[in-house]
Amino acid sequence: MDILSALASILFVPALLVTACYLFTCVFWPFKACRVCRGHGQFYGLFRGIRLCGACDGTGLRLRFGRRLINAAGRLYRELNAANRNHRNR
Ligand SMILES: [Zn+2]
Repeated sequence: MDILSALASILFVPALLVTACYLFTCVFWPFKACRVCRGHGQFYGLFRGIRLCGACDGTGLRLRFGRRLINAAGRLYRELNAANRNHRNR
């Protein structure tokens, strides 16, 4: 066994664990705090005014990247199934 395949087999299980934990997080905690406003959703201006955060539209929440992928996959799955159903009824 050469060193590359040994390294790959050693790193496979931790990478699988990290991926599984990230997917679990994306399913049960889909939102994270906005990085621009740090989850506050607004900025305080110079003269005591409040400006809403443009990145999160004032909610202070951002959808995780993995959750966006999950949503896109679900949308694609539903569209394909709807297309198949329409095709079958014809
Ligand atoms: Zn924000």
